[in-house]
Amino acid sequence: MSFRIGQVLQLSLFSLVLSCTTGVAQAPNSPIPTVPPQREIEIQNATKCETQKVVRGHYQWNWSDGTCFFVPAVSIDCKNCSKEKLTELQKIFDAGYDQALKGFGMEPYENPRFRGLHVKIHENHLQFGLNHSPSDAYRIYEGPGAIAHEITHEFDIYLLGDHGQSWYAEGLADYIDDGVIRKNAQKVINDVKKDPEFWTKYPEWKEVHDTGALYFGELINKGLTPEKNRLALKYLHDTRPYQGSRWASPKIINAAYEKALGLNSGELDYLLALLKPGLDANRR
Ligand SMILES: [Zn+2]
Repeated sequence: MSFRIGQVLQLSLFSLVLSCTTGVAQAPNSPIPTVPPQREIEIQNATKCETQKVVRGHYQWNWSDGTCFFVPAVSIDCKNCSKEKLTELQKIFDAGYDQALKGFGMEPYENPRFRGLHVKIHENHLQFGLNHSPSDAYRIYEGPGAIAHEITHEFDIYLLGDHGQSWYAEGLADYIDDGVIRKNAQKVINDVKKDPEFWTKYPEWKEVHDTGALYFGELINKGLTPEKNRLALKYLHDTRPYQGSRWASPKIINAAYEKALGLNSGELDYLLALLKPGLDANRR
């Protein structure tokens, strides 16, 4: 049997009129129902499910079948991995995730950004993705520190609104990675201070990680500790709503570290001036 569109429309209009006329009219002043409607119950259950506090994952409500299921913080998707390999990788990722969380000093249930990290493992590299914004990371077998580094980039989105100034993002990720600043940058920053020709002689320090390392190297010389770094990150996060898109400028980053290190406002301005060639090469 087949209908033409006109016939189908007529039929649906007819059934609509029928259902309106046969529907039971609501009596005026009818009592408020004591049993919440089905939708309300479901929203209550979903809220109960999703607000459970867990580390390394979160609970999610499945609206289609009304079940509450656990989503691990780091879910690994690897077609070619054996079961043993997956177990080994899961351990590395969990450790890296914990390290990154510690670096930020925040609990994963404080914000959904910290919770659903999806990792895809390809042939020789992996892909991280938070909220469907995957970024590639070619550091799969370097251990938890490297994973913490890459996860830090994902957490930056929560903190900075995006990855922020790239020299800062890399410096921060390296610092959270293991607190060791690459290439002895703590000492090299003293050369930058002394030698006005530094950037002409050693242009390789304009590389994004190296400029970031010089910045953090001087912060460490000024007494930066993981705890003070967490404090600076908190200041940066608190500042964000008031700064709009300009919030992550070098000056704002600097101000957060001045506060965390107990320095006067403007005391780290010289650092921005010293690193200007590197910063200019690695703005976002
Ligand atoms: Zn990086």
